[in-house]
Amino acid sequence: MSGIGHLAPGFAAKSVTPQVPIWVLLLAGETNDILYFLFSSAGIESKAVITVMDFNQGVKYLTPGSNPWSHGLFMSMIWAMLAAAIAFLFYRDHRTSTVIGLVVFSHWLLDFLMHSNLPLFFDGSPLVGLGLENSGSGFLFMTVLDILLLAAGIAIYFRARKRTAKM
Ligand SMILES: [Zn+2]
Repeated sequence: MSGIGHLAPGFAAKSVTPQVPIWVLLLAGETNDILYFLFSSAGIESKAVITVMDFNQGVKYLTPGSNPWSHGLFMSMIWAMLAAAIAFLFYRDHRTSTVIGLVVFSHWLLDFLMHSNLPLFFDGSPLVGLGLENSGSGFLFMTVLDILLLAAGIAIYFRARKRTAKM
């Protein structure tokens, strides 16, 4: 459930929250997938088994399940708010906590483009997502977008670093 594009918001966010370590920001962008790993290992969510992954057919799953605890819209908002609250305890700064919350939530937005099985709430609720991974050309588009996003995020990161180094 992941592409390298999820790292982009973390890199970019470093420019507005220089006091937060980069690894915290990068992990924040992967929160949903870290939770998915934990929940699927614990048997709370089903492990997605990928059978095909290429630019002809896109991504095909053996059993198309949904993962409401790690990737539902409702829980994703909860995780983002929780991350923001924890960040506030550490940094005592509204801007920093808001940015971290947004980085966490960016994961869901990117997954919304990629997947078509993101529950709004829990099991049985409507599944949403543009599902670009479901076709070869869509999957190719997402792969290119991932690379471009990551490049843009890293570019913003290094520009901000150069700026602070000059000060
Ligand atoms: Zn994901």
